[in-house]
Amino acid sequence: MNFDEKIREDRESLIEDIKRLVSINSVEAEPKEGMPFGKGPAEALLCFLSMAEEMGFQTENFDNYAGHVDFGESGEVLGILGHMDVVPCGDGWICDPFCPEVIDGKLYGRGVLDNKGPMAVCLHALKILKDMGVPLKKKVRLIVGANEETDWKCMDYYFHTKKVAPPQISFTPDAEFPLKHAEKGVFQYQLVTDIKEEIVLAGGNAYNSVAEYAYVLLPKELKAQAEAGIPGWTEYTGCRYETCMENGRLKLEAFGFAAHAANPAKGTNAVTGIMKAVSDLKPGNDLGNIAEFYMEKIGRNLYGEKLGVALEDEVSGRLSFNVGKAEVLDGKFILSIDNRVPVTYKCQEARKCVEKGLEGTRFRFENPQITESIYVPKDSFLVETLMDVYKEVTKDMDAMPQVDGACSYARALDNCVAFGAILPGQPDLMHQKNEYLELDRLDMWMKIYLEAIYRLAR
Ligand SMILES: [Zn+2]
Repeated sequence: MNFDEKIREDRESLIEDIKRLVSINSVEAEPKEGMPFGKGPAEALLCFLSMAEEMGFQTENFDNYAGHVDFGESGEVLGILGHMDVVPCGDGWICDPFCPEVIDGKLYGRGVLDNKGPMAVCLHALKILKDMGVPLKKKVRLIVGANEETDWKCMDYYFHTKKVAPPQISFTPDAEFPLKHAEKGVFQYQLVTDIKEEIVLAGGNAYNSVAEYAYVLLPKELKAQAEAGIPGWTEYTGCRYETCMENGRLKLEAFGFAAHAANPAKGTNAVTGIMKAVSDLKPGNDLGNIAEFYMEKIGRNLYGEKLGVALEDEVSGRLSFNVGKAEVLDGKFILSIDNRVPVTYKCQEARKCVEKGLEGTRFRFENPQITESIYVPKDSFLVETLMDVYKEVTKDMDAMPQVDGACSYARALDNCVAFGAILPGQPDLMHQKNEYLELDRLDMWMKIYLEAIYRLAR
């Protein structure tokens, strides 16, 4: 279909609608009567649904948790999943993040990419299809959440409390192009051991990030040995080290580099840096013993080889292994681990491997949190159609569906893939300061989503 003229005609009103949505500060706040995530997310959801109503679509609001917009009557449903809440802004913006402004052809504002802009494009795509009277066989349903950035309570309420039937096929424009057809399982847990002596060691702050800093306090007698060891440790772990004295003890600090847990090879783990140093310094007792365990069962492994959890498959590659945090708490020493599990394995299988790997050591397995993988085959109607559209519109004929360790909104549903909206070469400013949308990308977005909706639903 040739939509070019309609896209041109609609452009200004699309930009106005993105600005309207972005003007609402929809960061999660204290719940209020009838507003489970605070005033902002409810207002933004309402604004989106009112726009759809003004265009003549049927909408429904599910108690300000989530809402949907329907186009078409028939039973089979194509879902498009997105959200109206945004992450906090932080400092350093060149304009007010909730007063969207065009500067040098770029529209600045929190949410222009994540996810208000792409959802406004999909809504306007439906409007164009409706205005042109294009006949579709499927019903198209925009499903709009108000709590994606924190707890996904929106989708839980919509699908489980309200029991709305899930669409047969869906995509979410809440990641990057071209398309993610497989997302690894997210498997987080703790390795825990009881300690009898005082240990002062800490590093990292979250499961899903490579620990960028760690430190340990050691007996002052180890100072000369530590300083002599630093060049070798830096070579081995990639960390930078510093020493100083603190209350009569030696403080050894390791500085690594943060990265997302799904790609630990992009970072440098400071906990590993400290453990390597401690295992060489051999301070004895609990601390020395823990460092020995660490180097024997984890070490520099990024795929869990030493612990025996190095699962791998053809579709999604290797399991990733990240130590996100090390801490001492209530007489226990705790390592917080994040694994991204290949899509053809269940997280429970990884768990068995970890438990077996711990046999005969002082550490035990605790506090598992599991988000299972999603996988839509490359040769499915959904993936093939979306990839065809993407290639034809962008002329990027080598594009391939991708596998990701990160967790997109697609996981809220079966048979859903992440499709856009960040284009190759477009800066990924989702969750960053100065989030902006280059307005000359808008036509490309619109062409892709219009054609995609048309071909999936016709
Ligand atoms: Zn998002």
